[in-house]
Amino acid sequence: MPTVACPDCATTNRVPETRLNDNPRCGRCGTALFQGAPVVLTANNFERHATAELPLLVDFWAAWCGPCKVMAPQFDAASRMLEPRFRLGKMDTEAEADIASRFGIRGIPTMILFKAGKEIARTSGVMSAADIVRWASAQAGRAGKLPYRGTSRAAFAARIAARFRANGARQCGESRGR
Ligand SMILES: [Zn+2]
Repeated sequence: MPTVACPDCATTNRVPETRLNDNPRCGRCGTALFQGAPVVLTANNFERHATAELPLLVDFWAAWCGPCKVMAPQFDAASRMLEPRFRLGKMDTEAEADIASRFGIRGIPTMILFKAGKEIARTSGVMSAADIVRWASAQAGRAGKLPYRGTSRAAFAARIAARFRANGARQCGESRGR
């Protein structure tokens, strides 16, 4: 039974796999566990989300980073496609500099995929929603989690990708670990 952290109170909830699609709510505060949007991660809730069994995909970003702004709506769209198989979260590398430094974030945007407290994979640079979905699904699949499959969502992802190709921005700073 996967564990999922509440986007509001960060309480760890156990949700049967078969109930993930039934709009499950937090047993403590009643908030919907999935809201079709990334959770804002801070030092207060990061551990709970990262140690949950539901894979956590984190976008490390900063307000001064142009490519991060380009990627933000793509990441939002990806959260609507990847939930409830994944939790998506945003980490402001300025506000949470300690966490960014703990994970050696150099170039942003950088995405890291966590599962049950472990880093599974990371990648740097702007990605379209479709590519985010593909990348996260492939990495999680490699780590033993079935990727999300859905034809209508794939078509939606392709539309987003087509729109995204118009944009040339890529990445701020130096990337690492490529
Ligand atoms: Zn809650």
